Amino acid sequence: MRSHASVLHIDLDAFFAAVEQRDKPSLRGKPVVVGGVGGRGVVATASYEARVFGVHSAMSTREARARCPHAAYLSGRFHAYRETSAAVMSLLREVSPLVEPLSLDEAFVDLAAADLPGHEVADVTAFGHDLRRRVREVTGGLTASVGIGTSKFVAKVASDLDKPDGLVVVPPGTEQELLRPMRATVIPGVGPATAERLRRAGVHTIADLEAVSEDELVRLVGRSLGHGLHALCRARDDRPVQAERETKSVSAEGTYEEDLTDRRLMEGLLSRQARDVAERLRKHGLSGRTVSIKVRLHDFTTLSRSTTLGSPTDEAAVVARLARGLLADLDTTGGVRLLGVGVSGLADWVQDELFGPDDSEREADPEPEPALDVPSTRHRAWAPGSDVVHTELGPGWVWGSGRGVVTVRFETAETGPGPVRSFALDDPALSLFRPPSPEAPAADAP
Ligand SMILES: [Mg+2]
Repeated sequence: MRSHASVLHIDLDAFFAAVEQRDKPSLRGKPVVVGGVGGRGVVATASYEARVFGVHSAMSTREARARCPHAAYLSGRFHAYRETSAAVMSLLREVSPLVEPLSLDEAFVDLAAADLPGHEVADVTAFGHDLRRRVREVTGGLTASVGIGTSKFVAKVASDLDKPDGLVVVPPGTEQELLRPMRATVIPGVGPATAERLRRAGVHTIADLEAVSEDELVRLVGRSLGHGLHALCRARDDRPVQAERETKSVSAEGTYEEDLTDRRLMEGLLSRQARDVAERLRKHGLSGRTVSIKVRLHDFTTLSRSTTLGSPTDEAAVVARLARGLLADLDTTGGVRLLGVGVSGLADWVQDELFGPDDSEREADPEPEPALDVPSTRHRAWAPGSDVVHTELGPGWVWGSGRGVVTVRFETAETGPGPVRSFALDDPALSLFRPPSPEAPAADAP
């Protein structure tokens, strides 16, 4: 463990929703839910105003709508999230050469490599305050929560303690005191399945974990996870901040003799692969935020699509739902020869010995098959929340559409809340706004 609190973890608050509220003044201070807006969508991020109603990341959008019907449901604008993320990451790299991004809205920064007057608690605290101010500047007003401690684990726990818009510095030597009363699930890698196994053994808190021998932990949750838990519950964590960390992912795919054309069959296969992936995640004590699918068409064109959740999941049902949702947006009428599902953006700490294919212990079938409503070829163009531009009225965003009409609110980050107007779906004066730089497909690839 480091002798100084020199690892910083930064996490932008309710990132996707915050970007939407920044760019859509009429939504500021209101519940906003970003995610799949279709019948089978999943919530990626909910604004704090929506969380009050019990809406959270990875919940089905249907459930979210039941809990908070008056929220704005938006399908997400990844170009805007990527731009904002890039601004934050380049700020962090100005501060320290050692920055390890974990996802669009999260990163570790090694302050030992940064140019600070010192690394005492007072120094890093002042630095943390200043950094949050600068993040607000470069993002046009977004808030971030920052944790600073002697290790990645402690920094990550700390950034979550005073969310949103918080700064928590854990002085060296006080880590265990801080951790002991916390639930074991604060340890990355302790997903629902592991938590349940620990709970059955009477382990709820970090203090409980500390009382279990290493051998016993290995017996309870497996080797890699057991050793990890034994160290982390004692705040032992020497992992370096790695500027060039390889992105690991867990995936499953299948190639088929004959081209698949039946949507229901494809969905069934994706669901089975999702179960596979989730099982392997759990086995290794991992969970991930980005779910991807890979689809090779009859003509060997290979398509990848991905979506990112606000918090990591290791649940088969969630991975399956997202995968099927991604498939729904692809035209597969010509036939498909390969299908695959992957999860990346893994909550890291077990990064070794990852994943040889291991089909030995596939569970019988705990997840009910999905409701088989065959996806319609939904018109994606007017997805709620999308940026549009009108030849006379200027820039705005899609407030909603249906029955041949699209409703647009004309406002931007720089205007106040703007007026709402409706148009025919095919009104030539209205078009989708394309971001100036085309979205790099590579960033979306699994
Ligand atoms: Mg965040």
